[in-house]
Amino acid sequence: MKYFSLNKQSANVDFREATILGQAPDKGLYFPESIPQHGFTSVESLQGLSPEEIGFRVMKPYVDPMIPDAELKRIIRETLSFDIPLVRINENISSLELYHGPTLAFKDVGARFMSRCLGYFSREKKEKIIVLVATSGDTGGAVADGFHGVEGVEVVIFYPSGKVSPVQELQLTTYEGNIHALEVQGDFDACQKIVKQAFADAELKDQLFLTSANSINVARWLPQQMYYFLALQQWKEKELPVVCVPSGNFGNICAGMMAWRSGLPIKHFVAACNANDVVTQYLLSGVYKSATAIPTISNAMDVGDPSNFVRILNIFDQSYPQLKEQISSYSITDAETEETIAKVYNDHNYLLDPHGAVAYAALERYLDVNSGFKGMILETAHPVKFPGSVEKILGRSLEYPPQVEKIRNKEKKSTLIKPVYQDVKDFLLSAYLH
Ligand SMILES: *Cc1c(COP(=O)(O)O)cnc(C)c1O
Repeated sequence: MKYFSLNKQSANVDFREATILGQAPDKGLYFPESIPQHGFTSVESLQGLSPEEIGFRVMKPYVDPMIPDAELKRIIRETLSFDIPLVRINENISSLELYHGPTLAFKDVGARFMSRCLGYFSREKKEKIIVLVATSGDTGGAVADGFHGVEGVEVVIFYPSGKVSPVQELQLTTYEGNIHALEVQGDFDACQKIVKQAFADAELKDQLFLTSANSINVARWLPQQMYYFLALQQWKEKELPVVCVPSGNFGNICAGMMAWRSGLPIKHFVAACNANDVVTQYLLSGVYKSATAIPTISNAMDVGDPSNFVRILNIFDQSYPQLKEQISSYSITDAETEETIAKVYNDHNYLLDPHGAVAYAALERYLDVNSGFKGMILETAHPVKFPGSVEKILGRSLEYPPQVEKIRNKEKKSTLIKPVYQDVKDFLLSAYLH
């Protein structure tokens, strides 16, 4: 597979180059030249296959010929090393639980796949690859866990001091070895700004091989398709499902659309948004207007200008009518999100996290006006990662799953740093220039 830049100003590259670069030199996002058909065109066609077999068939065309089959199989086995069950909440709505991985969020899938690809590609490189990542909470943990112990790769995580949940902070700061947490005395935007400055710094890039692990990287984006196939494999209803995805940067839902374009039978997509509703507005008006992010209780979706939106347009050949036919979108308030957590817990004894609750509320709205349909939400994080709103509603504290128990008593290791670029640059050079 070759990948082209959506800005059309850079040369096409193979999977290896796309993974190492992240973004094309013309600042465009990479997109595969063609969308392969896997033959998974019905629920029946998926029966009797292991997750590894399905994952391998889905990913091989995207990776070929840059990773040998045996290696790719190993990468997929290690990526899908936890359960992804489809659980029925009520008669019409099921939940694809993507939070049973090591950092309790769906980002584990993309991060684990990407880290192992980069580890494989770094074997041929003399110098170390240094991954810089800014996080508001979830990404950093998944990247830390995914890359921990991967040889030839060092990871530097920038997170906003005091602005991540206790579980998230544990997941950022208790890895050692090749993972380094920089606790920035500023907000997420300050973290992101520093990382952008580093990538724009020619002098620094001359001395260190830098890359990013953000969600635009094809090696993080494309493997997310795998669990849409695993979801359909578990689908028991006669009617095909409406799939509702809580969306921020729209990488996850965009991966689902790639799966659908590859033949996977999905009836319709619902993009669930919180107050950050640029895509909801776009679907109403046909006009895309980016905005500054508004803080909400589903904060991993607080994005004002979703980076993967250009990929979605490309999937639909820039056609607004085609896109509108396949996707609906609803914007859900914080109050509705909290009501939904309480209602679903009281009525169905099922505990949603705020992101899953946004999806549940959005899917309910869609099903209200499309009777007879059934659907699933992608539950993207474990409630314990967002205890603030969940514990308030339950009136008790949540139990920690084993993934957290394991790191709970570990010592926090982070470097406190001011949001000053020169300080960060000095740190990077002294740590990694040998
Ligand atoms: C990152 C994240 C999202 C948003 O996913 P996108 O691919 O950016 O749309 C949703 N929920 C949780 C819990 C997340 O961490």
